[in-house]
Amino acid sequence: GRTVAVFTSGGDSQGMNSAVRSVVRMGIYLGCRVYFINEGYQGMVDGGEHIAEATWNSVSDIIQKGGTIIGSARCADFREREGRKKAAYNLISRGITNLVCIGGDGSLTGANTFRKDWPGLLEELIKDGTISQELADQHPNIQIVGLVGSIDNDFCGTDMTIGTDTALQRIIEAVDAVVSTAQSHQRAFVVEVMGRHCGYLALVAALASEADFCFIPEWPPPSNWRDILCQKLSVMRGEGQRLNIIIVAEGAIDRDGTAISADMSPFWVTCKEGGHPSAFDRILGCRMGAEAVLALMEMTPESEPCVISIDGNSMVRVPLMQCVERTQAVQKAMNEKDWETAVRLRGRS
Ligand code: ADP
Repeated sequence: GRTVAVFTSGGDSQGMNSAVRSVVRMGIYLGCRVYFINEGYQGMVDGGEHIAEATWNSVSDIIQKGGTIIGSARCADFREREGRKKAAYNLISRGITNLVCIGGDGSLTGANTFRKDWPGLLEELIKDGTISQELADQHPNIQIVGLVGSIDNDFCGTDMTIGTDTALQRIIEAVDAVVSTAQSHQRAFVVEVMGRHCGYLALVAALASEADFCFIPEWPPPSNWRDILCQKLSVMRGEGQRLNIIIVAEGAIDRDGTAISADMSPFWVTCKEGGHPSAFDRILGCRMGAEAVLALMEMTPESEPCVISIDGNSMVRVPLMQCVERTQAVQKAMNEKDWETAVRLRGRS
């Protein structure tokens, strides 16, 4: 069997534990040795007890927990070649050359850089006398599979990311709570939700909560939007509507670039993710984790890294760098206020 390591990196999201559990159990089921790398790339660079063998039972009782039990971190060291060299040593000395990276586009970019560097890093380690030529020859490259954990569903190449559905549940619960206490007061409520570049959560939450208005980063209104909004609200009041819900993505701006969220604080409710992962995210993590191990089993040192994505209701493998580059192109277009390009790039093709 192969030796596989799993780690979570970057921002955490609900359902990551289910993915970790699934990688561990599918790996063991298929006869692999499976390791946890705690604290993401920092644990890979520091080695020692951060890299520990997983057992079947070590992932019991985690599927219902939020966040990630193996820790996540931002790691400056891994951005430097010297840090990646330490990480390479820590992996090869344990015979680990199959990685499942659970994180966002930053973490997946780092994984890709690591793989490209691998042969050169081993050469340096041989030259330093840290490892033998023989050991290096046994592990000419690393195989990498990525799973995307992200609450705002901002990654190109998969219909859903691990954590999005739970975030949506939290938002809906918050909106429902506001509605049930506020119906008697005749008010308009503004609910701010996550999403710096991506309006997915705001848009879907608006549909699911019967919101009257929704502001997303991809579709900025004209700068006199307040007048338009107030006028429509007063018409609705005139027609007898007692409550209005307005959903704003945190990154929503108007066409002049002013944040929609500015100056609306009296009626403000902010929704943050957290709590227990939804059934959907548990199952998504479970399926993606199992597929990740199956993909690794078929990979050779020549195989390019892939991402496990959900396409319709199927698990599919897509080239990692293609997804990352497209995701970054969307972010660039959003920063340049080229919304049309961003939306086009994010669509399926
Ligand atoms: P996310 O994975 O959620 O997008 P970050 O962008 O913060 O989060 O990335 C998480 C970690 O991945 C970073 O702290 C760093 O260790 C590593 N990383 C990100 N980008 C790169 C890169 N270009 N090269 C090497 N490592 C990177």
